[in-house]
Amino acid sequence: MLIIGSHVSFKKDKQLLGSVMETLSYGANTFMFYTGAPQNTNRIPLNKELILDAKKLMKEHNIDINNVIVHAPYIINLANGDISKYDFSIKFLKQECKRCEEIGVNKLVLHPGSHVGLGVDVAIENICNALDVVLADTSTMILLETMAGKGTEIGRNFEEIKRIFNLVKYPEKLGICLDTCHLSDAGYNVDKFDDVLDDLERLDLLSKVKCIHINDSKNENGSHKDRHENIGFGKIGFDTLINIIYNNRLNNIPKILETPYIGEYPPYKFEIEMIRNKKFDEKLKEKVIAHYEK
Ligand code: FE
Ligand code: FE
Ligand code: ZN
Repeated sequence: MLIIGSHVSFKKDKQLLGSVMETLSYGANTFMFYTGAPQNTNRIPLNKELILDAKKLMKEHNIDINNVIVHAPYIINLANGDISKYDFSIKFLKQECKRCEEIGVNKLVLHPGSHVGLGVDVAIENICNALDVVLADTSTMILLETMAGKGTEIGRNFEEIKRIFNLVKYPEKLGICLDTCHLSDAGYNVDKFDDVLDDLERLDLLSKVKCIHINDSKNENGSHKDRHENIGFGKIGFDTLINIIYNNRLNNIPKILETPYIGEYPPYKFEIEMIRNKKFDEKLKEKVIAHYEK
């Protein structure tokens, strides 16, 4: 079954219930959210009743919570060992894992971090030490996202991810989140996605892939830029993305859109429609605007 959804909001008033309602408005059957703003540490207390209401609604619409993903805030940087920043990142990540447990989501996507001049080796050691602390007392699985290689990002290739798996104490609590824009920007040939999956298989990592971010890219293969584009409007292109989404080796793995809004409007309802129809609609952006302005 195609498990597809998008990034949705998680707001103060309706919390998870609002996220589910937004998901349903897109015709999606899964979703991803931040439990608060990705760029700051303000976190609202969770409302248990709203969580229960949300789960009831999910059940009515066959949304399996095991396919739902939380994204960790991107201010967390486990690669930077600078003591005050490192402690902050670990503490905040622990808190996010706890929030996942309270909500009932079992997978948290995390950017491995940026080495900010420390070099890859030190960064990987920092990341692993931090993950050992965090994973020691949570049931949440942390999915390391493969990155575009912008700046000093760790996770620009599968080998770096593999080094983390090799060094951590609890590799069974670690998974991988692929991102099509990041893979292309990192230089992987996403047109030949089976070769990319073969690379993962050789490193014994294919079975670790638990989520895929589906984004087109504004930039050429190997650009290391990380700027997402709407499905079919970027340098990856519609056919390649469809081939990835429907690749048999990736069945039952949640596919999550993180494509940009059209002005102030979310494109997801229409992008998901294109994906289900396997047919590109060059009028997508106009349709999004017309839909939300009516
Ligand atoms: Fe991400
Ligand atoms: Fe992503
Ligand atoms: Zn990105």
